[in-house]
Amino acid sequence: MPKILIIEDEPNMGLGLADNLEFEGYLVELAADGAMGLQKAQQGSYDLILLDVMLPNLSGFDICKTLRQQGNKVPVILLTAKGDELSKVRGLELGADDYMTKPFSLRELLARIKAILRRVQPAQPNADTPGPVPIGQLRVDFQAYEAFLQGTPVKMSHKEFEILRYLWQRRNETVSRNDLLEQVWGYEAFPTTRTVDNFILKIRQKVEEDANHPRIILTVHGVGYKLKSANP
Ligand code: CA
Repeated sequence: MPKILIIEDEPNMGLGLADNLEFEGYLVELAADGAMGLQKAQQGSYDLILLDVMLPNLSGFDICKTLRQQGNKVPVILLTAKGDELSKVRGLELGADDYMTKPFSLRELLARIKAILRRVQPAQPNADTPGPVPIGQLRVDFQAYEAFLQGTPVKMSHKEFEILRYLWQRRNETVSRNDLLEQVWGYEAFPTTRTVDNFILKIRQKVEEDANHPRIILTVHGVGYKLKSANP
């Protein structure tokens, strides 16, 4: 179970979040001030930290900055006050992964948490893809970054593999372009959704028997793509 540290001084907010996250199946710890929060973050091993910006003792910025300076890469979602645009920018500059502006919807927070946890677990990206898997006319080995067409190696770029892997991991589900951007490109660059479409075209030329009439990587109009697979 992913373990989440909440650093939040407002008791209602902190306890409310803790309850809801526990209900969702996360292991949760709560720190009610900055100093205690930093200590826990340094000593414990967490999969994610929800970090309030305005805290007694140490601010959320100080905590984030200190953790990053110490090489701690734990994903951080900042909880900023309404209308505080500067906080968002500063937080992302200091190494936060995302931010939520109070008051936020629990649903959206949960979605962001899930997205970040999915993104930062590359340690076992192949957990559900033990060997080469059939995708369209290819057999794709995500572990070795290799693809074969009837036994012959097919050239694919790293990015193409990453995109295909993400679609494969969520096969038979609709994946939005924005989701692909976040998952595959992350926040280090800001390509457009058009970039995603171009990569999909390239991938289709390899996966599909007829790229003009895709039957494996389908377009879901106005949303994104869906990889059709007989594999459950
Ligand atoms: Ca606060």
